[in-house]
Amino acid sequence: MSYDENNIFAKILRGEIPCDKVYEDDYVLSFRDISPQAPVHILVIPKGAYVSIADFSAKGSEEEIAGFWRAVSKIASENDLVDAGFRTIANTGLNGGQEVPHFHIHLLGGRAIGPMVSKAA
Ligand code: AMP
Repeated sequence: MSYDENNIFAKILRGEIPCDKVYEDDYVLSFRDISPQAPVHILVIPKGAYVSIADFSAKGSEEEIAGFWRAVSKIASENDLVDAGFRTIANTGLNGGQEVPHFHIHLLGGRAIGPMVSKAA
């Protein structure tokens, strides 16, 4: 799948659409999910144009990949998610239910998040 420059997270990265920013550095932008599924629901996206975790892992530089994952952990820590625990989710493609085709990690916490996957078909 080629990268769609008009996806909503690309627009947020370009500053064309606002976001509720949590953190930013050279590698990532992090902001609150517009439709939170838990008391804390934060998204982390790489600044580079990657469709999915597979695309990012295959094409991202070592620096981008290290920078991204270090930032994910820093954001979890700075938002008090680590001691009580939290969930990370990376939905990918159709079966994964990915809605926005720019790689992102969901950080969910602030309460017990429940079963790992829905039993719904
Ligand atoms: P996914 O299904 O993994 O692609 O998740 C996309 C997420 O992006 C959903 O949880 C949406 O609520 C969230 N989302 C969509 N548009 C925005 C936006 N403008 N600002 C923040 N979060 C958004």
